[in-house]
Amino acid sequence: MEAKNTLVHWFRKGLRVHDNPALTLVFNKALSSPTQFCVRPIFVLDSALLEWLRVGANRWRFLQQTLADLDAQLRELNSQLYVVRGTPTTVFPRIFKDWRVSLLTYETDIEPYALNRDAEVQRLAKEAGVKVDACCSHTIYNPELVIQRNGGSAPLTYQKFLSVVEKLKVALPVATPTRLSVEHKPPKDDMEQKDPNCYLFPTLEELVKRPEELGENKFPGGETEGLRRLEASLSDESWVAAFEKPNTSPNSLEPSTTVLSPYLKFGCLSARLFHQRLMTVLKRHPKHSKPPVSLLGQLLWREFYYTAAASEPNFDRMIGNKFCMQIPWESNEAHLAAWTHGRTGYPFIDAIMRQLRQEGWIHHLARHAVACFLTRGDLWISWEEGQKVFEELLLDQDWALNAGNWMWLSASAFFYQYFRVYSPVAFGKKTDATGAYIRKYVPELAKYPAGCIYEPWKSSLSAQREYGCVLGEDYPHRIVNHEIVHKENIKRMTAAYKVNREVKQGKNSDNDGGKGKRKKVGSSAQLTKKPRT
Ligand code: FAD
Repeated sequence: MEAKNTLVHWFRKGLRVHDNPALTLVFNKALSSPTQFCVRPIFVLDSALLEWLRVGANRWRFLQQTLADLDAQLRELNSQLYVVRGTPTTVFPRIFKDWRVSLLTYETDIEPYALNRDAEVQRLAKEAGVKVDACCSHTIYNPELVIQRNGGSAPLTYQKFLSVVEKLKVALPVATPTRLSVEHKPPKDDMEQKDPNCYLFPTLEELVKRPEELGENKFPGGETEGLRRLEASLSDESWVAAFEKPNTSPNSLEPSTTVLSPYLKFGCLSARLFHQRLMTVLKRHPKHSKPPVSLLGQLLWREFYYTAAASEPNFDRMIGNKFCMQIPWESNEAHLAAWTHGRTGYPFIDAIMRQLRQEGWIHHLARHAVACFLTRGDLWISWEEGQKVFEELLLDQDWALNAGNWMWLSASAFFYQYFRVYSPVAFGKKTDATGAYIRKYVPELAKYPAGCIYEPWKSSLSAQREYGCVLGEDYPHRIVNHEIVHKENIKRMTAAYKVNREVKQGKNSDNDGGKGKRKKVGSSAQLTKKPRT
């Protein structure tokens, strides 16, 4: 009997078995003809990337846990996850041949590096005579379709976006694949015969190169945990129906929002399933809150940014990005390092940045506070620098959402009320008057009384000694005076906006934000596109 052909599903994001149309396609085809096909769901792991990708230890751990869980889910379906080590361009030619692959499926991805990678793999597949099928399932709406329905460009405002998607049908989640039979198990290839474990999912040691950087494992990775968290979040229906983002707290000790973002980022949880389950709850509560502030509104923000990002390959940089204001940010290594490591001397800002480093997740309004502080509020440093730090530390780091929100917060795109600046003192007090959040993440200040924990510089030296934390010795002096710098920065924003307006009207052609000669802002010059994990 002639050897069977192999059907391959390639996992990249979409690390789940539920609502995964490209995976279901492979399973259904195999089930319809068991004598003809065997199945290999794969993940390509390029270990060279471990060294140079901007991914912190916590996110590597999340990925490792996700792959382990995915393997377990696939074993329930009588299959397993085959983790193939190498780069896509070296892996695919080998497996196409060795495994007699006839079909390759995957979920589409809008990120520029992924589009390039996928084009190259499609070329290799064509050369090898392998059919390729790609399905869109990372978002509720297909960004390409939204762009098409908006006359060929991405909607520039949320309201416009809503008016476009209102008229689109929402794709329903597809069924989880049916179990395969033993006949679908592929025969061992040469590599497996030499080492039966060669395709096993990676261990924590293989992925986490700097284990000393691991924080508490508050949000374990994987589909099982993502689905559990979804059900837990939606179980309190009154909370869901009344959800209004501005009324949630940036500095509660336990999250005041769902923390489903890391699961959506890796596709452990389907956004379409989240949407479907949410709509079922909302139908039972007709007086529910509405977008943009509702929980549905949050999911639609994700769709909004994905659509915009799909239309701009330079979405993650200022220069050459059609959405982005050109603002003459300045570089200041010392200030950037202080912000990055939670040493600005502003306890609320430092607590947020330390929570981010330890736990990999911070509340949306906490992200607002630190992003505004770094850019137009206080430090006048480019949003691209903040984006890089978030890229490393966030569990939910997402190319489209990270860039889109940084542009929003720095008033570079989508939001233009730059004169509305968050106070690094008053903002946190609104939801945590006693400073419990600061005490947790900036323990040096734990003995400061509520009255001065947000502004330790207001305490006398003797009081600082009494509280066991002297500024300049045990905790830094504030690096800028917010009251002074934020007013100067508003003036700079006014000037930059004026220049941008003039450039748009064709009055000025140098398009440099109006500063003439200035220090080059490094990251905008970075031209190579890197993969993100
Ligand atoms: P919930 O309030 O429970 O919302 C549910 C889901 O809606 C989220 O999981 C998320 O997928 C989506 N969502 C909510 N708010 C937004 C938003 N403003 N934009 C887009 N989608 C949203 N989110 C990321 O997932 N990845 C990022 O890299 C990222 N970077 C950000 C950078 C900055 C500077 C800012 C201000 C925000 C960023 N966000 C990012 C958006 C937002 O802060 C997070 O999605 C949210 O806080 C995640 O928590 P949650 O799951 O509890 O959200």
